[in-house]
Amino acid sequence: MRFDMPKNTKHQEVNQSAGTEAKVPCTSCKVETTHKVRASVDIRGEDWFDGNSIEYWVSHQIIECGGCETVTFRTINTHSEDYDLGPEGMKLNETVALFPSRNEGRSLAKDSHLLPAKVHRIYAETINAMNNGQPVLTGIGIRALVETICKDRSAAGSNLMTQIDSLVTLGVLTPAGAAILHKLRTLGNVAAHEAKPHAAQQLGLAMDVCEHLLQGVYILPHHAKKTFG
Ligand SMILES: [Zn+2]
Repeated sequence: MRFDMPKNTKHQEVNQSAGTEAKVPCTSCKVETTHKVRASVDIRGEDWFDGNSIEYWVSHQIIECGGCETVTFRTINTHSEDYDLGPEGMKLNETVALFPSRNEGRSLAKDSHLLPAKVHRIYAETINAMNNGQPVLTGIGIRALVETICKDRSAAGSNLMTQIDSLVTLGVLTPAGAAILHKLRTLGNVAAHEAKPHAAQQLGLAMDVCEHLLQGVYILPHHAKKTFG
């Protein structure tokens, strides 16, 4: 008897998950809202390797915010090898990607044109990396931004750690801000040396701190000089 190797299979269905709802962060409402799937392409398949198979499911969805009707795109990936064992048994993990990415739409801070050219370039590229869902590059960019500010203000110290502290001495950074930047410094180290991506939320917070620093170091002094002479 001849043994036939099982064949890889792939099935595609249109709008299988249309009409379903899920809580998703909205790009416009800026909070998690109920989104409805308006259209979808749902794929399920099975790939065989050496007599074992992996099953996978991919759902590509056009989703609409129930609050403001903003339409975006979501992809959910699941496969039979990625699961957690909980009290209710095996639960498949879902990898969800949202387009535009939910950090997206982050625009350059007001008056950023007042920044020195080299600072502006790093800042703009880092925002770009963040908006394009590149967490490793964003982490490295944030570190480069802090380093450049330190250099630009001739912050004393032989390493980034002592330089951040001297920004406090220079009066451009609060001790609380410095504490956060020290965490960023570690973040950047991890990103640069281990190529480990950071959570979007961490990076968003890190960028908030950087923007406060840019305000305090470059933008506010410029306005103060113009206003008070
Ligand atoms: Zn919305």
